[in-house]
Amino acid sequence: MVKLMLTIETLEIPDYEKVIVAKDPSVMLHCIIVVHSTKLGPSLGGVRIFPYSSENDALEDALRLAKAMTYKTALCKIGIGGGKSVIIADPKTGKTPSLLQAFGKVVDLLKGSYIVAEDVGSTPQDLLFIRESTPYVAALPTNYSSGDPSRFTAWGVVRGLQAVAMTLWGSTSLKGRSIAIQGLGHVGSNLAEMLFWQGADLILCDLDAERTTRFCHEYSAKQVSPAEYAAVECDILAPCALGGIINPQTIPKLRCLAVAGAANNQLSTPDDAIQLHKRGILYAPDYAINAGGVINATAEFEKTGYKAIEARDQTHLIFETLLQIFAKSKAEDRATSIIADKLAEHNIAAGIGKRSLPIF
Ligand code: NAD
Repeated sequence: MVKLMLTIETLEIPDYEKVIVAKDPSVMLHCIIVVHSTKLGPSLGGVRIFPYSSENDALEDALRLAKAMTYKTALCKIGIGGGKSVIIADPKTGKTPSLLQAFGKVVDLLKGSYIVAEDVGSTPQDLLFIRESTPYVAALPTNYSSGDPSRFTAWGVVRGLQAVAMTLWGSTSLKGRSIAIQGLGHVGSNLAEMLFWQGADLILCDLDAERTTRFCHEYSAKQVSPAEYAAVECDILAPCALGGIINPQTIPKLRCLAVAGAANNQLSTPDDAIQLHKRGILYAPDYAINAGGVINATAEFEKTGYKAIEARDQTHLIFETLLQIFAKSKAEDRATSIIADKLAEHNIAAGIGKRSLPIF
């Protein structure tokens, strides 16, 4: 048994409910947990394990991601608030069971106001170690849990693409529409399969060229290199890799009618959404279209236990939410991201979707 030498510092940050920095040199733990908002329910957010160059960088990332979780969960009305945690460590070399158990103790100190899940750098196995110190863990790799969120994220993106199709062409059908997917990882590969069966014409792209070629063969898709992705001619760009693909350099080159994919932080700055709007390119705000995974994880908290069918039906609603955002954007002639933010803020202020029962 490792003897913990835990120190906790609380930071006062305006608009954030709780921010703590915890260190335990005996297990090389240096982490930050951010609870942005619990107005609609306990905060949920993944633990990112990354070798940040400074505590300040880690803090900035955690604050940004926790706030984005609040907006994402508020928009889909699932009785959950926004939080995030980061562990400053190299996920390849710096993760040990004792570090993860010590992190679990820090999560436990927050008494359920923060629930941890998987994120960049953490794995389902890591969650099992964290679970040894706290019950406040979602999406564990067990038979009772909600499991891999990416199928649900991909299905939510399909529903979002159908909302795009309805808005652009008056029908939800994606048959014969050219859709360019960047990133064939957990979400992108599931999305490619779902869209193939919906009759879409796929254009595929991944850093791993061999993987891309294999998927292109499987779905009779066209291949595009990462360097050419943003400028590829298509109906819809579906970014499912890393953030920042929409930026002042790529926006003038875009040859698509819409941008709608799973990647978090697709825009390099909020102004990019305004530029897309000015160019007449329909943008599905990333946190609105990629909420399927968090919807699925939240389905674990029901008294009757996790039911995939309920998570699926809740994920369906991404379609209605996006239709509402697109219609309001058109009526008010404002960028879709501004409309989505306002809608989320309205839900939080009015308590819409607030959790009435405790989590189980
Ligand atoms: P992943 O790591 O499984 O896959 C990412 C893929 O993108 C990899 O195959 C990688 O090779 C590829 N890639 C990276 N940079 C690229 C580039 N420049 N060009 C082409 N391909 C590139 O990740 P994931 O779980 O599939 O998540 C994808 C995105 O969706 C991320 O931005 C993630 O934050 C977001 N997201 C995921 C989920 C989920 O359920 N997994 C939920 C919400 C949002």
